Order: sequence, then C-alpha cells, then structure tokens
Amino acid sequence: MTAVNRDRIKNLLLELVRIDSLSRRERACAMRLKREMEQLGGVCRFDNAAEKVKGEVGNLIAHFDGTVANVAPLLICAHMDTVSPGEGVKPVVEGDIIRTDGSTVLGGDDKSGCAIICETLHQLRERQIPHGPIDAVFTVCEEIGLLGAKNLDLNLVRAREGLVYDSDAPGYLFIRAPGAMALRFTVQGLEAHAGMAPERGLSAIKIASEAIAAMRLGRIDSETTANLGMIEGGRALNIIPNHVVVRGEARSRDKAKLERQVAHMIQCFEDAVARATVTLEGRQFSASLQYTARLEYEAMNLAEDTPIVRKVVEAARRAGRVVKPEAMGGGCDANVLNRRGLTVANLGTGMRDIHTVREWIDINDMISTTEVTIELIRLHAEG
Ligand SMILES: [Zn+2]
Repeated sequence: MTAVNRDRIKNLLLELVRIDSLSRRERACAMRLKREMEQLGGVCRFDNAAEKVKGEVGNLIAHFDGTVANVAPLLICAHMDTVSPGEGVKPVVEGDIIRTDGSTVLGGDDKSGCAIICETLHQLRERQIPHGPIDAVFTVCEEIGLLGAKNLDLNLVRAREGLVYDSDAPGYLFIRAPGAMALRFTVQGLEAHAGMAPERGLSAIKIASEAIAAMRLGRIDSETTANLGMIEGGRALNIIPNHVVVRGEARSRDKAKLERQVAHMIQCFEDAVARATVTLEGRQFSASLQYTARLEYEAMNLAEDTPIVRKVVEAARRAGRVVKPEAMGGGCDANVLNRRGLTVANLGTGMRDIHTVREWIDINDMISTTEVTIELIRLHAEG
C-alpha cells in the first residue's frame, strides 16, 4: 500500500537543504514552500511575525479545504530555519542516505519535516484520500528561541490540534518535553596586581569556581538537567580578575523541579560571593553577584490518551508501523503551541546527529513518517 513517491520526497529534501535559511533569513525557503503549497491547491498567507522577530519573512500558513464535511481542521507544522554552519549546504547522496560534505549541517532539522508535509499533501491529492481541512504551517526562527511559534498569528490558523515534525527518532511521538530557563551569572570581584598585592584582590574566577564546584549539574533526575555552557572573564595573567560571566541553563519537565534547580544554582553563587570579602585601609570590600533567569519556554505534557496521540498510534498500526509516545529532552514549537491553547505532539522525521556537521538522514524514515501522517489524516476524517 506504500505509494509515497520516493524520488519526489528525496528531491524536494535535496532542493530545500540547498536553500540557505538561517534564522531570520528564511525568505527564499518560504517562497519555495509557498509555491509548492499553491500547486497543491493551498491558500497561502504570511503572518506578521517578520516584524516581531526582525526577520525577512513571517510564518507561512497554507489552508487546504477538506473533502469530507464536519471534520475538525488538522495542523501539520515544521520550521524553516536551520542552525550554523548552515549556508551553502552540499548534500552528499549515498542511495537513500543523505549526508553533508562535513562543512555544514544538513538542515534536515527541519527541512525533513517540511518535505514530509509537502509529500503528504501530494499523496492526499493524487490518491484522493478523504480528509478534513488541513493547515500546513511553516515557522521561522525556531532555533533561536521558538520565536516563530511564539509570534504565530493564531487567527490565521483554523486547527487546534495536530503535529509538529521536529525530532530525530522515527517511530516516536514526543508528547512530553522539558521547560527551560536560561541563566546568566555575573560575579564582580576586586582587581589587584597578582604578584605585588594579591591580598588586595577578590578573584571573580575563584569565587565563580567555588560556586560551580558546589553546584549540582548534568542529569539531576529523570526529568531534570542543568548545564553551565559558557564562561568568560579575566584580562591578564598578572591581574586578579574582577569580573566573570557564567552562562547556563536548566531544564525540567516538572515546573517545581525546574524552579528548585534554578534556585539551587543561584544559591551556590550567592553563598560563594558572600564569603568573599577583603579589608583595605580599614574598609571592607565585598564581591557582588548579578544574575538573570529567563524562561525560554515552558514544558509540554500531553496525556497518552489525548485524542491526537491515540490517533497517531492507531494510524501507525494501520500503516504497518509502530509509533510509541515518548518523552524528549529538547524543546520545539510544540512546547509553545501547547501553551497557546493547541494540542500538538512532535513526530520524529529521522533526522540524525542534528546541529552537527555529521548530520544525516535516511529517506526511508521520512517515507515512514509520511505514511503514518497520511493514515492519521484518513483516520481523523473518519471522525
Ligand atoms: Zn528543529
């Protein structure tokens, strides 16, 4: 029963990955997808997210009429932007495996999702598969904080449930994902000559080190992680450094655990800073701390008996595939859309080693995900 057009989905993927589309520069990719949508009978609009994210183009929303009455519209969504190094992608084709030449990412994250959506719509038309209304949404700026989804004009989207295609593992439907906080700590010490007057200084690097050494990091529990990913400070070997900036993040699928972890990280810095004082000419100097903790996105948490989740599992069975609901460690547009009142799960496309120059994908995984989607749409139209 498989009738997915292998050459067409492969060629579209190859074409899309060759179109540069770093975050905020998705215009060329959006125009290509708009053409595809219009050829398929979709009515396309762009929302005004371009102004809000200061990008070239907004989110692309394509409406397709249903062929069956009284069916709720369904969302199928992928993001157009890719990470660096992602310009001038030269895909290397080895049969059904597509790789990069090692100088850039492939951008299968998330051009694979875009191609799956296009091929699904081709199939619906060619095979005259009965379906309800479909909203195909292609977002911008997912990779820089889910900004496209955050600014998506929901007045232009009819669907209130559906799928995002934005994770690696084919055969998995991600229904739980963590919320994330971005953290930035600035420790202010006291500058002094390291050789002549070290007792007159407060080393910001040493203070930060004490804070970090006391901190729980890495995997905190089954649904919580924390990382300090960047550190910057110091001016010269012979100067006691008075300034250091440490940046990191914490993630958890549980809001209270996320807050507890963030509070712990702040406390470690506060304790280390509080211990650092020096008295000079009868005057006491203390180190100081400034920090920011910004919520990047909130957790997503769909129950396994949510209708869309049950339908995807059943659709996979009908397609002769297996799809398992699962939890993931990363955030995506689905996190935002669920918070904005939609019910959206994240179906794997087969993209592998993403955000690296070793990124690759097997066309067979994309075909599998397309087949599951076609069955989902058919099942959904049965009511
Ligand atoms: Zn992605």
